[in-house]
Amino acid sequence: MGVDAQMLVKNRGRHLNADEVLMLSVDIAEAFGTDAFSIVNDDEPENWCSHALEIVEEYQQDGEDILPEKGEQFIRVHLVGRYYGPGYERGNLPKYISIANWLEVRLPNSLVFYGGDSSGICAELFDAKGRAKMWAHFCQYGHRPYTGAFGSFKNEDVTLCSFCKTPMIDTGGGGGDTYLYCAGCGKRCIKIGKTGELVKVEHDEDYFAAHKRVVICEPPMPNYEFDIGSRYRPLYDQATGERDPE
Ligand SMILES: [Zn+2]
Repeated sequence: MGVDAQMLVKNRGRHLNADEVLMLSVDIAEAFGTDAFSIVNDDEPENWCSHALEIVEEYQQDGEDILPEKGEQFIRVHLVGRYYGPGYERGNLPKYISIANWLEVRLPNSLVFYGGDSSGICAELFDAKGRAKMWAHFCQYGHRPYTGAFGSFKNEDVTLCSFCKTPMIDTGGGGGDTYLYCAGCGKRCIKIGKTGELVKVEHDEDYFAAHKRVVICEPPMPNYEFDIGSRYRPLYDQATGERDPE
């Protein structure tokens, strides 16, 4: 399970009313795009709806809840996306930094906090100093510690991208074959386990479709077809010659 990013504004200036927070929600969604936030509008059949920003009584996390101190108003930012931080270099940090920056400009008497929703990653002050520290980590490491966690960089059996001369990232695979990705140019290919051959994945294709295409082109046995899960299953009953009922 992944760690999602969470953000909180401690407004220490004049408290905003619901209409003002709604206006601010619309502005921030317009600025960053509605996809940046977990927005559920009244088109949805569910009863629970949410704007980008919401006034809350407390901030819940995988740690102690944070409660407003005297004079503080809590505004929750409903971010979409994984957390990014040292030890979990996964989410879109530049976007979170920009959002925090935007909130500080629009709510000058406030403090922005940033954290995760699980794994004990608790909210920390995300002011200019906090953001600069995180930004320095991002500039140094990017997403490599996370993408490398699959073993791509430790594995002795590395595959170099022919274009970038850098190890391709192992993103999974199936049936002894490996799905590889190059972070330098976006090239994707499948490494066939048995032969070591690299097969290109086309732009409009996902790995599974490409895998199916490749394996079906060269079936190991004429009466077998590719099946995710068991890899190959018989097309025809070997004894009767009838098509397998499955
Ligand atoms: Zn490349």
